[in-house]
Amino acid sequence: MTEITAQTKLLAVIGHPISHSLSPQIHNGFAAALELPYAYLAFDIEPTQLMAFIEASRLLGMAGFNVTMPHKEAILPHLDILAASAQRYGAVNTVAVRDGKLCGYNTDGDGFLMSLKNAGLAPQQQGALILGAGGAARAVALALAQEGAAVHMVSRRADRLPPLHPAVRYCSWQALSREAANCSLLVNATPLGMAGTKEDFADLSFLDTLPANAVVYDLIYRPQQTKLLKAAHSLGLKTMNGLAHLYCQAALSFAIFSGQTPPLDLIRKGIGDDDRS
Ligand code: NAP
Repeated sequence: MTEITAQTKLLAVIGHPISHSLSPQIHNGFAAALELPYAYLAFDIEPTQLMAFIEASRLLGMAGFNVTMPHKEAILPHLDILAASAQRYGAVNTVAVRDGKLCGYNTDGDGFLMSLKNAGLAPQQQGALILGAGGAARAVALALAQEGAAVHMVSRRADRLPPLHPAVRYCSWQALSREAANCSLLVNATPLGMAGTKEDFADLSFLDTLPANAVVYDLIYRPQQTKLLKAAHSLGLKTMNGLAHLYCQAALSFAIFSGQTPPLDLIRKGIGDDDRS
């Protein structure tokens, strides 16, 4: 972190819970590398405290803050301006505070696309299979669909979900192996395999039907090598873990806060070599 002075500007991430967040390390690392006067903290804000935090952000003259679960959608009506990205995704992960006005953005979709591009992958050439249909899955599906990819989302609620985009179709877990044969990108956007949860994939045979050039991308970053990624790696498939998405969406947020984009070297260093296997 750069030296804290009276000119230091406050940045933060808010969520509940928040103690697991890597955002302070990532953003303070960006600020230090670019020698910019920011200090970034994590605040545990419960839903009932959201309005009080919003007022405090103005009072303290914060430069901005990131927003994570459970506030990504709940904060929308309390913002002064919604950037096109926030409107597109119907959720906000980045808020810039400018002259007391709160402007909401969403860097999740573009961060995901940036992580693919950094790995040398072209999303519009991918038929993509996304496991899950929650917040992260929807952001990834929309980003890929808007780049021209044909997207299948695998959900236990496949027959009950509202349309997301003309290029996005829903399918059941039973159809997974069949759909996998036509996909060159598979993204896990469920908590299956995440540290701290007991649930993991019971059956990974769908990996066998993926084309040999397919990429398996797990949005989970704890652990960095999930059972899914280990199995994909052992089949010779290219793998990526959630650090790639985490660092890229953070880099885009930091650019909104500061006007300066963190260099690619710094992002790659944070993601680690294991991630580009
Ligand atoms: P979420 O909104 O709760 O959605 C999770 C989805 O997973 C649900 O919609 C559910 O889909 C599916 N799911 C949950 N349990 C399942 C089970 N036992 N079997 C099959 N499907 C199950 O969560 P989220 O915020 O989207 O996060 C999803 C994952 O992405 C988490 O692991 C999270 O850590 C990760 N993530 C990573 C980043 C990053 O920066 N790398 C950012 C955000 C999220 P259905 O109910 O439709 O079947």
